[in-house]
Amino acid sequence: MITRSLANVQTDSRRRDDAERIPVSSTPQGRWQAQLASAIRDPYELCRRLELDPAWLPGARTGHELFEVRVPEAYLSRIRRGDPEDPLLRQVLPLLAESDTMQGFVQDPLDETGHTPRRGLIHKYHGRVLLIASPTCAINCRYCFRRHFPYHENSPSRAQWDDTLAYIRDDTSIGEIILSGGDPLATSDRQLAWLAERLEAIPHLKRLRIHTRLPVVIPDRIDTELLDWLSATRLQRVVVLHVNHASEIDDTVVAACQRLREIGVTLLNQSVLLRGVNDSVETLTELSERLFEAGVLPYYLHVLDPVAGAAHFDVPDAEARDLVKSLRTRLPGFLMPTLVREIPGEASKTPL
Ligand code: SF4
Repeated sequence: MITRSLANVQTDSRRRDDAERIPVSSTPQGRWQAQLASAIRDPYELCRRLELDPAWLPGARTGHELFEVRVPEAYLSRIRRGDPEDPLLRQVLPLLAESDTMQGFVQDPLDETGHTPRRGLIHKYHGRVLLIASPTCAINCRYCFRRHFPYHENSPSRAQWDDTLAYIRDDTSIGEIILSGGDPLATSDRQLAWLAERLEAIPHLKRLRIHTRLPVVIPDRIDTELLDWLSATRLQRVVVLHVNHASEIDDTVVAACQRLREIGVTLLNQSVLLRGVNDSVETLTELSERLFEAGVLPYYLHVLDPVAGAAHFDVPDAEARDLVKSLRTRLPGFLMPTLVREIPGEASKTPL
């Protein structure tokens, strides 16, 4: 039922004239490319700008050596100064704990390297494949399950994309393409439009799904160039955002979501359950409410993938189940994300 009504909204919205689109905000930060280029990539600068006690710096330097710090200004502006407990800061501040070795926490927790039949293509589930459309992100999330991913081996050149596209063309069971990364929107619209054009020429493809954090961390990324190629494709469009806390959604993020909705994109969100960030019923309730206000439906709540360097974010399954049970007493069913774990080799995500 929900799918049908969203599809109707898509069709109606596509008919709207471009002039009706919500204008791209002219923030003082300027175009997204400049914001991407000027993201903070130095742990000292991060601690200084956020007025953190210098005692955090040695640990931040150690964590940074394992997975570099990266925080764009638009995201930084939502973090409280001088508060090491800020839930947004905890997602981006490197810590000494990242150097701990923990049993079961590994470099490739989802065995993705075992499911890459072509360069830049991951095929885990029936009917859909994931393309590594960009090797970089606008923000480096400390808990990321791809923090050790060999992007250098999975960044196809244009010629290698032909081989990847041939794989999709030859498998008529594939109906959906997931653009991922890195963050697929960290790459240029020229490249994305080139790829979208080739994908839509494959007759058995129906949907284009984009997994991205850019509309959240640099909302100006949702600009006219992006909306143009995304409006032009015949494929149904789904954008899956990644928001973990209601404070990540300010008015600029709401406006970016609205621009996507204006061209008929279906907006969903997936979160990761993270110790110290969103591991309370109140926080998860507020997140779902805020997402819906922005026109986004909660989709998945993932338990942490056991990636080396992120064990300090882990919430045990029993506690996760209790949280979700309580959450169900607070929210209407359509605002309840599904609690899942990804188990390598399974044919789908596993509900907990
Ligand atoms: S934006 Fe996504 S892919 Fe990039 S570091 Fe964060 S969680 Fe990982």
